[in-house]
Amino acid sequence: ALAAPAAVADAPRRAPYLDPRLPVADRVKDLLGRMTLEEKIGQMAQAERGAVDGDRDQITKLALGSVLSGGGSTPADNTPAGWADMVDAYQSKALATRLKIPLLYGVDSVHGHNNLVGATVFPHNIAMGATRDPGLVRREEQITAIETKATGPQWVFAPCVCVTRDLRWGRAYESFGEDPRLVIQMETGLEGFEGRRKGDLATNRHVLATAKHFAGDGDTVFGSSTSGTYTIDQGVTVTDREHFAAVDLAPYVVAVKKYGVGSIMPSFSSVDWKEDGVGDPVKMSAHRELLTDVLKKKIGFDGFLISDWEAIHQIPGDYATQVRTSVNAGMDMFMEPYSTPQFVQTLLAEVRAGRVPMPRIDDAVSRILKAKFELGLFEHPYTDRANAKTIGSPEHRAVAREAVAKSQVLLKNSGNALPLRGNQRVYVAGANADDIGNQAGGWTVTWQGSSGAIIPGTTILDGIKQNSSRVTYSQDASAPTAGNDVGIVVVGEKPYAEGVGDVGNGHTLNLSDADKAAVDKVCSAIRTCVVLDVAGRPQIVTDQLAKTDAFVMSWLPGSEGAGVADVLFGRRPFTGRLPVTWPRGEAQEPINVGDRDYRPLFPYGYGLRTRVRH
Ligand code: BGC
Repeated sequence: ALAAPAAVADAPRRAPYLDPRLPVADRVKDLLGRMTLEEKIGQMAQAERGAVDGDRDQITKLALGSVLSGGGSTPADNTPAGWADMVDAYQSKALATRLKIPLLYGVDSVHGHNNLVGATVFPHNIAMGATRDPGLVRREEQITAIETKATGPQWVFAPCVCVTRDLRWGRAYESFGEDPRLVIQMETGLEGFEGRRKGDLATNRHVLATAKHFAGDGDTVFGSSTSGTYTIDQGVTVTDREHFAAVDLAPYVVAVKKYGVGSIMPSFSSVDWKEDGVGDPVKMSAHRELLTDVLKKKIGFDGFLISDWEAIHQIPGDYATQVRTSVNAGMDMFMEPYSTPQFVQTLLAEVRAGRVPMPRIDDAVSRILKAKFELGLFEHPYTDRANAKTIGSPEHRAVAREAVAKSQVLLKNSGNALPLRGNQRVYVAGANADDIGNQAGGWTVTWQGSSGAIIPGTTILDGIKQNSSRVTYSQDASAPTAGNDVGIVVVGEKPYAEGVGDVGNGHTLNLSDADKAAVDKVCSAIRTCVVLDVAGRPQIVTDQLAKTDAFVMSWLPGSEGAGVADVLFGRRPFTGRLPVTWPRGEAQEPINVGDRDYRPLFPYGYGLRTRVRH
């Protein structure tokens, strides 16, 4: 039944699929008709660059559809040219296949092209949510697209359109906020990534985007439920269909219907419908109802689904069962970073045994090829490096700095302590005042991010020094003397990605002991005391707040720390508003706007305003 196509010879040079004047649908159909089963299944496989680098011919032998850089999987030469050379070398291996189908290169550009040292690194999404400025998010992702594509990757695993409903989730900072309406507003980023018009994707200004992680990743149960003990990351969304549609699914309806998003990544998490009685959660990667019936058929998603990192390994059963279940549920491409050969073999066997229907394979491959044609890869498979000169340019950094300033949320301002005046004597303390790695957070150069001077840019302290010539800095708050007019303590989290957050701080939302001590010391010694929280989510500051004159949520600003000083010194007004509810204590989580018993420290949407100082 599975006879190979008649023509397994080399593709004719004038095959219709190679003709850019033909409609994409015709090109897909022509190419699909020429492909062997092996070639089709190769398109459905995505390998990690670390796995193919030692043996690049694997790309040709398996006819791989895609390669990715998982977090921190950067080329040894982490420069624009180092990236482009690497991606192009892999591309040449894909073009050496019989049908010369180019590969897609995917990367996590989740706050700028954060993988590349020297790129413009924007604040994380939670801060962008605080700006309430959809146009700014569009500009952010336009810049991210340009900087990413100039180094080779044509595909980003962003934006996260997750709705974060519990701040104990270690990915809360990847979310624009707790209200689906806010997340939907910020989906303008999809336009920045992919463009507005047909043909935009094929230019050097746009990339294929991925709305992730479908769906309910930020709405999982923490701790124990009636059916067991749940972890919050990669956990279980215990929900009724009405809530799921209103909160978790809503951003995808917009991503598909309004923006026509090119790809979607199903989540590591599971869904457990309350209507059917809890206790039988189904992994999203295996969820046929949600992937096929709802997302593809009902909502009308015509892009392709990319599984998350080895996510199918969490489906019950042996590997063949995992692969079969996921393909049949509707998954199109498989992020199987270190096991693409096994994946290809397994899926081949499943199809040959009749356990995966051929139309399902053809559907998956057609979706993937459609993206490749729309990206213009058959015409221009190699990196267009022209825009590399704009990477980290003053123009791009100015937009990031504007985003930092607009994201600052002023939560307390007694006696108009802020804005500061340039002639004030300023004492600065705290582990996050002068650490660009801490202020960039996770997903910066490496997956987890790290402390220290890991990228170029300005720290918050640098920005303060640009505004005042009378600055004393002591990281551990030693000797804050009374000769200072203002004390600024920059507290917060250390970088982390996924899981449950800052491990060094015991995973909690609480301020560290060192931060509490620094606040106590500085605020008791200096008359006016300002605290900045540099963290991916609200921390528990109920006891410290009374000791401060002003309190600012700075989030994770990224490479342009000077944007924080812009609002501190009144060059720009404070306009940011909370995109999430600020709890009094960790035990209040999950707490969200609209809850019946809603007594937070600061409500959703809160944020004081200041005027610009002339
Ligand atoms: C994350 C995804 C990411 C992928 C590739 C996974 O661990 O959940 O968000 O896109 O890795 O790096």
